[in-house]
Amino acid sequence: MSAYDDQNIFAKILRGEIPSFKVYEDDETFCFMDIMPRSDGHCLVIPKTPCRNLLDATPAQLAACMTTVNKVANACMKAFDADGISLQQFSEAAGGQEVFHLHFHIHPRHEGVPMRPAGTMGDMDVIKAHAAAIAAAL
Ligand code: AMP
Repeated sequence: MSAYDDQNIFAKILRGEIPSFKVYEDDETFCFMDIMPRSDGHCLVIPKTPCRNLLDATPAQLAACMTTVNKVANACMKAFDADGISLQQFSEAAGGQEVFHLHFHIHPRHEGVPMRPAGTMGDMDVIKAHAAAIAAAL
């Protein structure tokens, strides 16, 4: 497995070098909106410390991320009146990973509504409003 590359886009978001729609942060984790949302409210939870993916994550990084995933998932249930949550994590290119900083995708889900295909840029005003709705439900 390759070494962690601190020029990845999520490391740049953590350093404030590129903007993001923040949902939540604590000392160890950061949550922000996915800009190509596959569901309304699609957001990402990442550790603030370097980690490529699930395979090199420490127990402390995983515990911190899961604590935040739990908080944000419950806020998503409220904010979107959702019926459930899908949690995704991809490790390495063969596993579907495109950005090599550990992240967990949270998708609020509604009965009978499929997730949208990956790779379509969302409407930034809508994404901003969704970030605010999740943050308000925290
Ligand atoms: P993965 O395949 O798990 O590595 O997914 C990477 C995710 O990052 C995709 O869902 C992208 O839409 C998302 N993404 C890429 N660039 C950005 C960005 N600048 N801000 C927020 N999300 C992003």
